[in-house]
Amino acid sequence: MDEAQLLTRLETWCAERLPSYGTDFFPGALHELADLGLQSLLFDGEELNLDRGLLVHETSERLARVMPGLAVATSVARLHAYLLAKYAHPQVRRKYLEATKRAEAFGGFAMTEPHAGTDVRAMRTVAVRRGDEYVLNGSKSWIGLAPVSDYVIVLAKEGHDGRDADTIALVVEMDSPGASGAPGPALSGVLGMPNGTLEFTDVVVPAQNLLTCDGFAGMMDGLNLARIEAASYSCGLMYRALELGTGRANSREAFGKPLSALPSIQIKLGRMWTDYRAARELTLAAVASFADQPGGDRDLISMAKLFASDAARRHTDEAMQIFGAAGLAQDAQVWQLHNDAKVMQIFDGTSEIHETMLGRRAVKEFTHV
Ligand SMILES: Cc1cc2nc3c(=O)[nH]c(=O)nc-3n(C[C@H](O)[C@H](O)[C@H](O)COP(=O)(O)OP(=O)(O)OC[C@H]3O[C@@H](n4cnc5c(N)ncnc54)[C@H](O)[C@@H]3O)c2cc1C
Repeated sequence: MDEAQLLTRLETWCAERLPSYGTDFFPGALHELADLGLQSLLFDGEELNLDRGLLVHETSERLARVMPGLAVATSVARLHAYLLAKYAHPQVRRKYLEATKRAEAFGGFAMTEPHAGTDVRAMRTVAVRRGDEYVLNGSKSWIGLAPVSDYVIVLAKEGHDGRDADTIALVVEMDSPGASGAPGPALSGVLGMPNGTLEFTDVVVPAQNLLTCDGFAGMMDGLNLARIEAASYSCGLMYRALELGTGRANSREAFGKPLSALPSIQIKLGRMWTDYRAARELTLAAVASFADQPGGDRDLISMAKLFASDAARRHTDEAMQIFGAAGLAQDAQVWQLHNDAKVMQIFDGTSEIHETMLGRRAVKEFTHV
């Protein structure tokens, strides 16, 4: 199937099959999307192929227009497949890689903890080496797929929980004694995407489940991929805001003419379209960088994620404004888009942390004397 055919089949699937799932898409819809090949896009057979980033962007953007939680669920599978292919022991890879691509096994990506979000170094999860195994203790929170994961890639400190401790990443099988996942509070955005907490109490993890990278650096490599995807979902949210905002502006009359004839409404739509195009171009540049160099261009990736997510939040707000009171109804699509856009500004690094990191590097880059 070529790229155009895949996108056509995805659009058909969204129109014909997605309504039967709604937000209750886990895991059934993921099996169907795996049959279309969405979770395998970064692979040729068992080999990673990062040249298909553009197609990844297109599928994520299109899914996010209609069901952002489902877009997240498919890209989480790509993230796990990517990390397993790059860093996992062959035996671990054999057990989980194909199963993840086929949506028969589900993974979690666990960095955040109750006391450590943006401040990752504050985390308290510790793995202690004991011969050919590690003993893992700690808690993780806000983890995608936590309640339903078969395995989780866990970032842990090695030996002790001091700020300067070395970090490792372990593939933890969730049927191990002492490991458990539970749902967290219901969230207002990315509906249908399971999320929750993880507990590890004296969990014995074979040493071969260690990823072959510095823990933090490996997770950041994966996070760069996730950040590009977050920019792609944000583009999808803006595109849908444009469609909904324009539809409402054409159909609603005020003072004897459609809202779309009012300059103040046209300005909103004009800015929305401009930022959508700008976010898309920046995201595509970030996508290209990921194929060009290991881990991609981190500045470009931060810029794409920051710009697209902030623009999505701003323009979904403007779309609500175009709807007037109708935009505040809890079943209004624009209200849901606005909630989804808030998630984009928080996960995969908050807007504040991206602007701070970029600002720090800008000072270095542009200080010439
Ligand atoms: C839907 C969803 C899915 C998620 N999935 C995952 C997942 O799969 N795996 C995972 O590990 N995590 C996941 N997360 C967690 C997410 O990565 C964290 O929420 C995020 O890193 C922010 O951490 P926090 O919520 O603890 O906020 P905090 O770190 O407490 O930040 C609170 C506020 O303070 C600001 N702030 C903090 N430090 C600084 C600073 N140095 N400079 C400027 N501002 C700062 C932040 O920007 C923010 O505005 C998910 C979150 C959500 C909402």
